[in-house]
Amino acid sequence: MPFRLTDVVRQYVNTPDLVAMTFEGANTTYAEMDRRGGLAARAMAADGVGAGSRVVWLGKNRPEFFDLLFGAPRVRAGTAPLNNRLTHDELIAIIEDSAAPLVVLGPDFADLRGRVEGLDAVRRVLVVGDDYEGWLTASDEVLDPPDDAQDDDCVLQLYTSGTTGLPKGVVLTHTQFAALLSVGDHWGFDTESVGLVAMPLFHIGGSGFALVCLSFGARCVLIADIVPDQLLATMEDEGVTNAFLVPAVLQFLTGVPGAADKDWSKLRAIAYGASPITSTVLNRVLTTFRAPLFQVYGSTETTGAISQLDPDDHDPDGPRAHLMRSAGKAYPWVELKAVDPATGEDVAPNVVGEIWIRSSQVTPGYWARPEETAKALSDGWFHTGDAGYLDEEGYLFLTDRIKDMIVTGAENVYPIEVENVLSGHPDVADVAVIGVPDERWGETVKAVVVANEGSEIDTDALLEWCKERIAGFKRPRSVDVVDALPRNPSGKILKKDLRRPYWEAEGR
Ligand code: ATP
Ligand code: MG
Repeated sequence: MPFRLTDVVRQYVNTPDLVAMTFEGANTTYAEMDRRGGLAARAMAADGVGAGSRVVWLGKNRPEFFDLLFGAPRVRAGTAPLNNRLTHDELIAIIEDSAAPLVVLGPDFADLRGRVEGLDAVRRVLVVGDDYEGWLTASDEVLDPPDDAQDDDCVLQLYTSGTTGLPKGVVLTHTQFAALLSVGDHWGFDTESVGLVAMPLFHIGGSGFALVCLSFGARCVLIADIVPDQLLATMEDEGVTNAFLVPAVLQFLTGVPGAADKDWSKLRAIAYGASPITSTVLNRVLTTFRAPLFQVYGSTETTGAISQLDPDDHDPDGPRAHLMRSAGKAYPWVELKAVDPATGEDVAPNVVGEIWIRSSQVTPGYWARPEETAKALSDGWFHTGDAGYLDEEGYLFLTDRIKDMIVTGAENVYPIEVENVLSGHPDVADVAVIGVPDERWGETVKAVVVANEGSEIDTDALLEWCKERIAGFKRPRSVDVVDALPRNPSGKILKKDLRRPYWEAEGR
């Protein structure tokens, strides 16, 4: 039998008490999760939701998402969870883009019902806490739909973060998840594991991590809102063994007073990734949690992690400390290379190129965007848009996104390197480095910084700090101090937003 996404929970239905999920103190067993998926499938079939349809989920993290996730594939449909931080207009545009006949809204989105009902393709809108549960349970009377799922049915359509442009719907099928779930073997999961699912389910870091946890029979602790001190308390109280967290959240967590004094003896691993991490934050994570760390690298298009930096390679005092700047090595089932983006030819070890990935984890393409798909995929290789290099041993070092690279004079500057230096300064809480227009050099390096609470930024001192640590052409020529940096929900700095005001006059 080929792998089906529904197998993730179905394999545990004969262990009736095994808990799949804890949400706000309430447990759901694997058997119940599977049963609810079945109910959702019947109700979808009764509503005429069938092969090739998308079912939209718009809400904060909630267990009902999993009814749709494990229900839709049984009628050959797929779930499309939306970024709940977008504006109503953006959300309506994405719902239209998905052509979903069925839209399920979390309680916080009930006020969108009218607008969604007005969309052409939409046949039914349900609201959790209102008519959703009635819809689900009424289907008890209906027969199971026939099981004729195919490997290449879309089961989950996730939208990219929109860091470089508008979010694109990434089609993920049974095939991509069959490949992804092997990642759990590398993280030491079993039925005793307790996984922290705190990242949004509309990102692969949320839903992909949840699926990895569930596929090993672990208990997922699902979090709707990240409040740093509460999250630390939950992690300790629930005895979390495995977590996936993005660098921005780790930065908040390690900044909570007393974070290091909690009992972290149950923690077996913290995986982190999705955006660059500074060495300052990484060292704070090591000393706060004293747990094995895994860095993962990937994207929505690769169903998440395709490379991993192992705990042994997180040794700041060891002879291979430089590996702490690496995103690790590709999993055995993944091909990874750095190419010259102009020619598509491989570059030599230690030479920066565009990172390309080939694996069954890679999406077959973007939903309803044939041109974008053709640009991003060639001969099975996904062109990531990330710049980086591979060393002789195959360790991946990311330099930056190609679009974020600063070209000043004839020199390329990778912002992350400059950000690493600046974030080490005691007065700096957060920092982003961007290129701004310059008549002579084309672009120059600008640092946008946030001061630590109680500190004031002395621009000259900051420039002096850089002078001692990095080459002249990489040093910021100007510093702006702001209250906060624009970030998206997965904690990525929105550099395109940060750059915009400086480039407006240039028309770029
Ligand atoms: P869009 O494609 O819409 O511009 P996005 O690329 O930010 O948005 P995602 O698919 O969520 O959307 O993110 C994938 C990107 O995240 C990667 O291409 C890479 O730039 C970054 N990334 C992922 N993991 C890491 C990591 N470990 N270190 C540094 N950057 C990472
Ligand atoms: Mg991307």
